[in-house]
Amino acid sequence: MSLPTLVSASANPHKVSEIAAILDGLVVLVPRPADVPDVVEDAGTLEGNARLKAAAICAATGHSSVSDDTGLFVDALDGEPGVETAYYAGPHATYAENRAKMLAAMAGVVDRRCRFRTVVMVVRPDGSELSVEGVCEGTIATEERGERGFGFDPLFIPLDGDGRTFSQMSEAEKNTMSHRGRAFTALVAALRGE
Ligand code: IMP
Repeated sequence: MSLPTLVSASANPHKVSEIAAILDGLVVLVPRPADVPDVVEDAGTLEGNARLKAAAICAATGHSSVSDDTGLFVDALDGEPGVETAYYAGPHATYAENRAKMLAAMAGVVDRRCRFRTVVMVVRPDGSELSVEGVCEGTIATEERGERGFGFDPLFIPLDGDGRTFSQMSEAEKNTMSHRGRAFTALVAALRGE
């Protein structure tokens, strides 16, 4: 039996190869066609944004599509930046600017608990969908530590680790406990159970 095709809503080749490795043997993951434009992610929730992205690629290609959307939710900031994590310091903010704003907002804050949440969604041509979530609990460091990774990695200390930030871990080690790793592992279980 041939494997079903899933089109990735992400245009990021690094993400696509990471997801393809996790879904290997279950689906054939193909990259998003270059001529499909980015969708405006304005649903206001991770799940809504994931749906917008997957539905747009599904409509454009006629194939089932998989998307993911992630946010960092900080307790002391009432859950901010949440769904706006990529744009925390402004619409064109760099990762470094976002981290600088976070360190300033958390200056002197004792309770530094937070979590990354990733929603992964599959949307199929018949309109049906499959949605799973991955969560990684942690704390915001008081200063940047480590060289690897991206985004808030130098500031995120996962609860399941040993005190190092994600930036101080190899990618493989990060994937064993990360929000995205957990969400795609949940997707594998859901696809196998169907
Ligand atoms: P996206 O939905 O995967 O594009 O993630 C939104 C934003 O969350 C990114 O721009 C990053 O700032 C942050 N982010 C997502 N995943 C991670 C991660 O694994 N480490 C650090 N930051 C992340």
